[in-house]
This record gives sequence, structure tokens and C-alpha cells, in this order.
Amino acid sequence: MARHLTIAALLTLTLSGCIGSGDPAPTVQQTSISTQAEIPASMRGKPAKAFFGAQPVASRQAPASFGGYSRGCQAGAVQLPETGPTWQAMRLSRNRNWAQPQTIDYVQDLSRKVAQIPGWRGLYVGDMSQPRGGPMTSGHASHQIGLDADIWLLAPQRLNLSRAERESISSQSLMRSNGAYTNANWTPQHMAVLKAAASDPRVARIFLFPGGKVKMCDEATGDRSWLRKIRPWYGHHYHFHVRLNCPRGASGCVDQDAPPPGDGCDEARQWVSNILNPPPPDPNAPKPKPRRDLTLADLPGQCVSVLQSP
Ligand SMILES: [Zn+2]
Repeated sequence: MARHLTIAALLTLTLSGCIGSGDPAPTVQQTSISTQAEIPASMRGKPAKAFFGAQPVASRQAPASFGGYSRGCQAGAVQLPETGPTWQAMRLSRNRNWAQPQTIDYVQDLSRKVAQIPGWRGLYVGDMSQPRGGPMTSGHASHQIGLDADIWLLAPQRLNLSRAERESISSQSLMRSNGAYTNANWTPQHMAVLKAAASDPRVARIFLFPGGKVKMCDEATGDRSWLRKIRPWYGHHYHFHVRLNCPRGASGCVDQDAPPPGDGCDEARQWVSNILNPPPPDPNAPKPKPRRDLTLADLPGQCVSVLQSP
């Protein structure tokens, strides 16, 4: 456990966050650069986020995720329609409502299920990925391959927000005591939304603040298997973060290891206990390495063609 938290603490120190919070970035095995993909001289050694951040639309290629959640890109992405019967994409100016087709399907399916929950008309959808994925100019370390989506923990009162309103409205925090507990904004409906989100077999993990997970551990009755996918993490009290599995048979897409067996409630309670009574710093902990911007050489070779594709 101590080792777990040390690694997590390192990640939090070294990674830029998911809207003001640590973004879970799994260590990903490096996929090798394909030899046919020459990195153009103008792009060599430069931060890849500048090139991916400048792409306004998806590549006209077959949909594919290349690499891992925190070290990759996406081809043939689909844009989530800005407004649907049961969802709205928020912060349109960020142009991060792009993802792989199965992520778009998942978000729309979940929004329809959530619309059946009393008080919830659907979903406010936060960041997914850039049109061609890749490292971002701000925020998230992950969200690079079109399989991550942030969902606001705010029940939509309206689904006809204007563009301007979608820039100005904020979600709400559900935590108190640094994430050890839920606050008065937490409702049983939040648990219903998270259960619906986690029960879908397309989901690999959902990241949520530790106090929220423990609240659900205490209150869940009957089937508890869905709790396994809900993982405690820093931040994630204004939104939860859904990470989908690589689609079956997708080559080039690198999955994260599955969560450990069990409901993960003991681990979440340990996080809470460490928030309330922080353990003394480990004198043998390695010094966090300063984070370096990823370049195209750090990404799978296919990401060059994703950038160069019309
Ligand atoms: Zn996120």
C-alpha cells in the first residue's frame, strides 16, 4: 500500500492535471516507432502537444487508437454532437469532444440510462480527446487515444445551454476533508450514475475521489462487482473519469493492466486513512523526475501519419 501511494504521489507531482487535479497516468510500455514513419525534420525534438493541439479536426482514416492512454494518438475520431437528447458537451472552446466511435457510443448510451434516474436528465460531458488525440497543450496527462471521457458530477437542469453558458457554468465538488469524505452535494443518484457507468463491460476503470468510493462501498447492496472498476484517485470530485478498454482485436492500442480482483474498498479506505493521517515521508523514496514534454519519438510511429493525414 505504501508503495502504491508513493508511486501515486510521484505521479501527482510530475504530471499535469485533469482540470486542476492529478490525472491518472498508467505507466505504459513503449510501443516501438515504425521504421517507415519518418518524423519530419520540422517536428523532431519538439513537444508533440503543439502539433496535436493545432489540429482542428479528426484525421480521415479508419478509427484506431495507437499507443497507451498517456502516450499515444487516435485516427479517425468522431466528434460527440454538441447537444443530444440526453447530453451536452461542455467547454466547446477546448475542442476536446472527440473520441473513438465506441467512446461516443458509450457516452450516448450512458446518458440515456442516466436520464431514467430521478433528477438527472442526462449528462454534461467534459473533456474527451483532441481531434487526433495525443498530448494536450493543457490539463490531462492521459486522454490521448480517444478512450477517456470526463463526466460532470452535476445533474443537468437543462440541456439547452448556449455555447457561452457552457463556458461559464461550473460543476460542483462533492468532497470535503481533502477528498476523505463526501459533502452535502452527494446524493444517492450520484451512486446510481456511477453504478450505471461502471457496469458497462466496455469500461476498464473509473477514477473518483477516495471519499466517494468509500461512501459507495458503505452503501452498496447486492451485486458489488461494479465497485471494482471505480478507483480512488486525486482530484475527480467535480467530475469522474471513465476509461474504456481497447476495443477487442484492436492492434496498436495498449491496455492498462486490469484492476486487482475484489471490490477495491480496502484500498480506498487506506487512501482515506492516509488523507486523514498522512504517513511520514519515505526517506528512501526516489526523487521525482521533472516531467518532460513528449515528442513524436516518444509516441507510436503511426502518430506521424495521423498528424500528416488530411
Ligand atoms: Zn479525465
